Amino acid sequence: MKILVTNDDGVQAPGLLALAQAMRQLGAVTVLAPDRNWSASGHVKTMERPLRVRETHLADGSAAFSSDGAPSDCVALALLGVLNEKYDLVVSGINPNANIGHDVTYSGTVTAAMEAVIAEVPGLAVSLDSPPEHGLLDYGPAARVALRVATQAMQQGLPAGILLNLNVPYLQDDQFKGLLITRQGLRVYRDALDARKDPRGRAYYWIGGDAPTGIAEDGTDFGALAAGYISLTPLHLDLTARAAIPTLQNWPWS
Ligand code: MN
Repeated sequence: MKILVTNDDGVQAPGLLALAQAMRQLGAVTVLAPDRNWSASGHVKTMERPLRVRETHLADGSAAFSSDGAPSDCVALALLGVLNEKYDLVVSGINPNANIGHDVTYSGTVTAAMEAVIAEVPGLAVSLDSPPEHGLLDYGPAARVALRVATQAMQQGLPAGILLNLNVPYLQDDQFKGLLITRQGLRVYRDALDARKDPRGRAYYWIGGDAPTGIAEDGTDFGALAAGYISLTPLHLDLTARAAIPTLQNWPWS
């Protein structure tokens, strides 16, 4: 089994190292990840500039590849054959923050797994629901969960067009309450505009504010994490609001 590991935090991020090391227990791992942080970059296809792929090493000395493209570019490059290999599975992460609810369209971690599904390769995104204030994160428990989920996905076979969005609470192995299959919950964003002036008096802006929270409803990703459960959400790229189709069909079009 050949596994492509990528992320959106950059090839040297500790979460990627933990994920790559765990996935080596399931198959042969190739790492191709961005050369810098692309968090919250969304689903990107770089078309107006060339992309480079370079050899590098992870902190454990293992060989890896980096690219100046986005996470989804890295997946596209690999699945289009840039390294002359085929892959059975794409795993993205481990992101240091949860990717739940509406986060999935912002997330470079999740959109990397979406790119895999577009190429008809199973995709798994892995994120850690770390506490707001933390020092060095321990990715070990989340990496072990990711290995269990990836193993199960390969044994059972993922339905076509489906990617898995895995979010792991920041707990020790024996503290997880279990694993729940969830739906996307509702994120509550607390963004605020921070307008400043540069030294030449021109305006510039940061999208600042507080970290997002969410509605801890039963059956949702946010609800599962809030209760100490691992959250596994099957996603597809069809965003069609089916319930709204009859309403729009009844508008006076002619
Ligand atoms: Mn990230």
